[in-house]
Amino acid sequence: MFDELDFACDGCGCRWRLVPAMVEQVACRHNGMFGCPCGYMNDLSAKIEEARIPPEPAPTRADIDIDDLFSYHRLTPAQLDRFDYIRGPIKVAAAAIMANCPGGADRTTAIRKLRECLMTANASIALDRK
Ligand SMILES: [Zn+2]
Repeated sequence: MFDELDFACDGCGCRWRLVPAMVEQVACRHNGMFGCPCGYMNDLSAKIEEARIPPEPAPTRADIDIDDLFSYHRLTPAQLDRFDYIRGPIKVAAAAIMANCPGGADRTTAIRKLRECLMTANASIALDRK
């Protein structure tokens, strides 16, 4: 995972801001080399290493805050908006399953898993990375 990368071309001095997907592409496919339209090949390897965000370590049992995990979390308006962004597409998927899958145990399970998906995604927003 990368953060945005701001740098100036060593050839012409023009300013660049690479978004994370572009940083990843430069890092993986071009060995850290970025060709400016001026023709200069900038070596960004060191800058890319600085911009790299280390993966978060998986929480260990000791890190899990049980009180927080089972507490009510009052949601901010921004969190409620994020709930809505996720709920809409999942409802569309549920409607598609209801309209196209024959009734039965598998369809029931598919709908149940969509509900679990929505609830787990909402929990990730409410708990905010805990
Ligand atoms: Zn340049």
